[in-house]
Amino acid sequence: MLLATDLDGTFLGGSPEHRHQLYQLITVHPDIELIFVTGRGLESVMPLLSDPQIPKPKYIICDVGCTVVDGHTLHAVGEVQGRIDERWPGEYKIHAAVEHIDGLVRQDVPQERRCSYFVNPEVMEENLQELLRIGDELGCDVLYSASLYLDFLPRHVNKGTTLTALSEFLEINKADVMVAGDTLNDLSMFEHDFVGVCVGESEEGLLKATEGRARVYHARAAGAGGILEAISHFGFLGIQGIDAEAADEITPGSSDLVIVYHRLPYEEYVEDGDMKRRNHKSPNGIIPTLASLFEHGKKGAWVAWSIKDDSLKDFETHTAVDKELYPNLIAARVALTQLEVDIFYKRFSKEAFWPTLHNFWERATFREDHWLVFCDVNRKFAERVALEASKGATVWLHDYNLWMVPAYLRELRPDVVIAFFHHTYFPSADVFNVLPWRKEIVGSLLQCDYIGFHIPRQSENFIDVAKGVMPFTVTEKTGCAPRFLSYGCAVGLDEMTTEIKIDERIIRLGAHPVGLDLKRVDKVFEDQSVHERIEELREELHGVKLILSVERLDYTKGIPAKLDAFERLLRDHPELHRKVTLVTICVPAAKEMTIYQELQGEIEQAVGRINGRYASVGWSPVQFFSRVFPFQELVAYYAVADVMWITPLRDGLNLVAKEFVVTQAKTSGSGVLVLSEFAGAAAEVKGAVLCNPHDPAEMADSCYFALNLSREDAIARLNEAYDVVSYYDIDYWSQEFLAEVAKSAQKNGKAASVLSDIT
Ligand code: UDP
Repeated sequence: MLLATDLDGTFLGGSPEHRHQLYQLITVHPDIELIFVTGRGLESVMPLLSDPQIPKPKYIICDVGCTVVDGHTLHAVGEVQGRIDERWPGEYKIHAAVEHIDGLVRQDVPQERRCSYFVNPEVMEENLQELLRIGDELGCDVLYSASLYLDFLPRHVNKGTTLTALSEFLEINKADVMVAGDTLNDLSMFEHDFVGVCVGESEEGLLKATEGRARVYHARAAGAGGILEAISHFGFLGIQGIDAEAADEITPGSSDLVIVYHRLPYEEYVEDGDMKRRNHKSPNGIIPTLASLFEHGKKGAWVAWSIKDDSLKDFETHTAVDKELYPNLIAARVALTQLEVDIFYKRFSKEAFWPTLHNFWERATFREDHWLVFCDVNRKFAERVALEASKGATVWLHDYNLWMVPAYLRELRPDVVIAFFHHTYFPSADVFNVLPWRKEIVGSLLQCDYIGFHIPRQSENFIDVAKGVMPFTVTEKTGCAPRFLSYGCAVGLDEMTTEIKIDERIIRLGAHPVGLDLKRVDKVFEDQSVHERIEELREELHGVKLILSVERLDYTKGIPAKLDAFERLLRDHPELHRKVTLVTICVPAAKEMTIYQELQGEIEQAVGRINGRYASVGWSPVQFFSRVFPFQELVAYYAVADVMWITPLRDGLNLVAKEFVVTQAKTSGSGVLVLSEFAGAAAEVKGAVLCNPHDPAEMADSCYFALNLSREDAIARLNEAYDVVSYYDIDYWSQEFLAEVAKSAQKNGKAASVLSDIT
């Protein structure tokens, strides 16, 4: 069957349950094709195409029949459109013709091949003859409705004539078409021998005009419910009607909280043909924190991917995480092939999304075939979550690798509370919109109840991107001070949007910079060998001041710019020769990533150049370590550093900055943090010396300033930073996030009781 339906009040109307049922039916049923037939302009239909809940139409007839496009390409169906265009004089001719009539106000809705004005009845009465004359002269129909709307349309074009022309062009049997509408605006569709339904609560005029017609059904249920009723009434899907093709019902699982993270809470490795497990070598604090939500017997699931290796024994979907610490937490593994992991995780995410998210979109490569793998993997995650989550459970998704999960999950489980935390930077609309799949991604994220970012700027960037995808109402804005910098850094912001409304759904947003696991740092200091290592390093430095730089090898981290600035520092301040040394600890990237090889070469060259120019016996200005340091060793370096020089060109947050602050505070140090104002942490960690990594002079000056800061000033800055970092730790982060999720759930009338239990 072909369902040709009006949108507002019809396809988009009715109860949420009926809408869900109808949309599901259309999505899963192979024999239903959809045509939107609407008074909206195409621009106003587009947001619906980004909504993953709404099935995609094969064709769209909009502007009350004046525009007809392919639903996928949005290109005009030339054969039908051409005939309409022939009759349209063009909007500027109409404007010019009515210009002399006072009281006509142009409607500001998007529209094409029609001109619509607001006119009050007195003006209309006074000018009726003149308006009809203009219509005649230009070959247009002139319509006046609801004592307000005046429309000029191409002559004899309406929803019904265009639908007829399209069905003839497509050679569709009229008996296979069902039209659906709710206002007089839709009457023309009922006058061309299609079967039709006036959904419940239709306009009186439409019901009267279609009364007693055998091919028209007057439904009881409003909107989508009325369409479902009519499908059964006309027997479109066989004897069992809509029940025949209902999607398989998913039986909810038993987990009240489902964490969805790209890594399992433990690390898997293969030894002697067996899958074995161990603790993660470099836990970043988030994994133990998320796992700790399941202490004291709290029930839940942790969904992550795991490689399905055919050479191993049967794939176990469920494994225990830690029977003693978290007796009721299960890991639910999503089986992926090595190829899927390579494409979805290592390649596509890193090649398409990572550069774009960090404002390096020129470096991004976009491959449609990889996007399809990405979507497929995200769907697998959603299907696993749908089976684990209890009724009304909270699902906490992590990071951009899982962007499309909300879209699939909402379809499978409308009842769950979906929360998403974005761990990387989120760029401005100008940059994000470069992504070929931005509409799908934003449409998916807007299925969440709550979306969290590190800092307000990132959240507001998302709002700007979303504004370009679909209309919504901003229902709450919140000041960012005093927790975040407003004007003091490049990523500061004074006010952020914290709640929006799309139809009846509330989506809340918040800024939650990831905090540090302070216990992890404390634990390092319990080990005597760390104190010995600190002493050893102090002796090795013998009075030379240490400028420390720690980061992954990544173009976002701005390492070459930092080396250039260091060279400038040595050039401009010869008094620093033999008095300072820059230690750069740079964690190498996977070998196969050639882009990183180039960067490594560039860094090595710069290091060689600086040392070649300035080194003297017993003093290397730069020491470059291209390897991972164990956390303990790193902490020893943090403790002896005089300046921590962190200057990424763009960074979601930067945990190294926080680790330095805590280490210094716990060792009564007076080190100074010099931080790029483009790192998320710059908006949160007060007391840092901020600098612009794009300005070589400022880079060198800020480092020089930090090297020469008095001990009192340095300690004062450090205390300020420590206050923030120690208060807003990782536990604060997770608790605050979940408390906000609970509020969002409540606002959407969902299972707040389960959440209050968690928080
Ligand atoms: N790190 C480490 N060994 C190293 C260098 C870094 O364990 O040799 C850790 C560091 O302690 C920090 C993390 O890697 O926790 C880097 O996090 P950050 O947020 O600074 O940067 P990202 O890598 O997430 O961009």
